[in-house]
Amino acid sequence: MAAALALRRGGHDVVIHEEFAAARPLGAGLLMQPTGLAALDALGLRDQVAARGAPVRRLLGRTPAGRAVLDLGYEGAHGVGVHRAILFDALHDAVRGAGVSVACGRKVVDVGDPEAPACVFADGDRAPADLIVVADGAASTLRDRVVPNARAPLYPWGALWTIRPDTAGRWDGTLAQVYDGAAIMIGVLPVGAAPGAEDARHVSFFWSVRRENFAAARAAGIEALRADVAALWPDAAALLNGLTDMRTLAEAEYRNVAARPWRRGRVVLIGDAAHGMSPQLGQGANLALLDALELARAVGPGATVHALPAALRAYARARSAHTRFYQFMSWILTPVFQSNSRAVGLMRDAFLGLACKLPLIGGVMRATLAGRATLGFRAWRGTWEP
Ligand SMILES: Cc1cc2nc3c(=O)[nH]c(=O)nc-3n(C[C@H](O)[C@H](O)[C@H](O)COP(=O)(O)OP(=O)(O)OC[C@H]3O[C@@H](n4cnc5c(N)ncnc54)[C@H](O)[C@@H]3O)c2cc1C
Repeated sequence: MAAALALRRGGHDVVIHEEFAAARPLGAGLLMQPTGLAALDALGLRDQVAARGAPVRRLLGRTPAGRAVLDLGYEGAHGVGVHRAILFDALHDAVRGAGVSVACGRKVVDVGDPEAPACVFADGDRAPADLIVVADGAASTLRDRVVPNARAPLYPWGALWTIRPDTAGRWDGTLAQVYDGAAIMIGVLPVGAAPGAEDARHVSFFWSVRRENFAAARAAGIEALRADVAALWPDAAALLNGLTDMRTLAEAEYRNVAARPWRRGRVVLIGDAAHGMSPQLGQGANLALLDALELARAVGPGATVHALPAALRAYARARSAHTRFYQFMSWILTPVFQSNSRAVGLMRDAFLGLACKLPLIGGVMRATLAGRATLGFRAWRGTWEP
């Protein structure tokens, strides 16, 4: 939707083909980083998203005994935790207001010849286009039309998550996590308003689980989960009070997408379809917004069909170093927080807290959290940022 909006504002006719029968958000709360907030600002949506989200000024991860493992602030800036539906609504309203057509119940099954592309639908219908932007997420079924040797393996671990009210604001300001070794991670992210409960505060609660154990966790039931959480973090267990059904917890799984180059002819990959990663660093939606703006900038207002391949090359070049950095860091760091290795958990608990305090490493870690790190030594900034 962000790419559609930015391209439409550049004067292009844009149609979104969405496979869901009706446009709707899906998934957990999101941490919008300063980079993603700057992108929303460029789209004119920052204020309305931030007003309904919750400011996040600190990431505090600790052991059940209370020893700090990760303690990072944002240095002058801050993130915003947001219910996914809030971001969705802001983009969806803007897209409709700008005159983008949204065609729902339209699963694209192919993109035809990349040199003369067309969205191809299951019933054989075709919609030719000058440019096709493939933004169908980490589990993309269209990615291999652009990058035939792409890989997108699932991580062995996923998460169970739910949005819960936080009437007293107990969790304000901090993305809080508790780790027991590398095998258990519990997190609470303040997200502000939820649809239908605009005035109340909410948090996104998540509990990391090996994917093969999703069914067993569900079968054990909510009381078992509450007891497991209570043994490590009683305050977080209280968030599950009042829940009676495991179905209120959704399953999330994630992939490590390796797919380059992101373009072929006049078809281009953006967002998770291009570089899906684990949510460990809270960057995926932010990177997707940055892709959208950079793509629209590279295409420009009056691009001819012949100029598109060069524009797509420029887009891919502009997004390369930043996304490579985050793909690498999330791949390296995910097992540090989600694996069965006791040794990794012990090393992390022993050294990461110290590393946060070292001027150079701590600075890189804070820049990484804020979405500002990239390959090389300079902090990353969007070309559209003032
Ligand atoms: C548990 C969890 C927590 C996360 N937390 C954060 C966070 O805190 N911060 C952050 O920045 N990111 C976070 N992420 C990552 C973030 O959700 C993704 O990076 C982001 O949603 C990617 O956006 P996208 O538009 O590329 O893909 P998606 O959001 O996956 O959207 C893809 C869309 O394409 C549609 N579609 C799919 N196939 C087709 C088809 N063939 N035809 C037509 N339509 C199709 C889908 O229905 C969907 O609407 C998290 C992810 C998970 C799983």
